[in-house]
Amino acid sequence: MLKIKNLHAGVDGKEILKGLNLSIKAGEMHAIMGRNGSGKSTLANVITGRESYNVSKGDVLFNNESILDWSPEARSLAGIFMSFQYPIVIPGVNNTYFLKAALNAKRKHTGEKALDAAGFLKLIKEKLNEVDMDPKYLQRAVNEGFSGGEKKRNEILQMLTLEPKLAILDETDSGLDIDALKIVADGVNNFRNADRSFLVITHYQRLLKYIEPDFVHVLIDGQIVKSGGKELALELDEKGYGWLES
Ligand code: ADP
Ligand code: MG
Repeated sequence: MLKIKNLHAGVDGKEILKGLNLSIKAGEMHAIMGRNGSGKSTLANVITGRESYNVSKGDVLFNNESILDWSPEARSLAGIFMSFQYPIVIPGVNNTYFLKAALNAKRKHTGEKALDAAGFLKLIKEKLNEVDMDPKYLQRAVNEGFSGGEKKRNEILQMLTLEPKLAILDETDSGLDIDALKIVADGVNNFRNADRSFLVITHYQRLLKYIEPDFVHVLIDGQIVKSGGKELALELDEKGYGWLES
């Protein structure tokens, strides 16, 4: 589903990713771990097409097609989703309106009929239940006045609503207390299936207790220096990253 080949990318003339390779097949859950500043969010931003990031070398293929020239919107419509490490507040834009507009744009793209207000409300109530969110959050502006944990749940609500093929979760665990972490992990686990892939970015092992990855990769200074199974996360928890640094 996703193939990253010798990716060199950066921002403001600074090279952050320095030859990164990664392949994710349909149905797989991959975790990327690494210290602060190792380039994890940069990777997520480059895959989703954030404008300020530039790629100097290498390629990113989604279903065997290079997407580097695609707009973020085109990538989203193709089924790529990202949950932000720092979700942004959009004052004046109602959360229900935002989710409904995003979902209907996607349905239009796939040739499905747009959902009307009643149809959307029915759907969103089920999704809200899955992340144990109160419907009152739908009436507020996107993320406005939301606590850190509420913002992260709202990101997962977006994921469940948009039903992406590839979901990139950038430190979705940060800001969540243990109960919220379990709810979010349940939401993600129920969403897993043979056609969907995940790239879960975290620097704590605790999330990976609840969301079991098929593969764990360690990112140091813009390169994946080690890959393994879920036991690698435990090893990192115990030994830190020092033993992998040269
Ligand atoms: P991580 O998510 O692993 O903590 P990031 O991808 O956010 O790391 O950042 C990688 C490195 O790039 C950091 O050293 C960070 O300071 C730097 N960086 C990120 N954004 C910018 C920017 N806009 N200008 C300059 N440096 C940046
Ligand atoms: Mg980050």
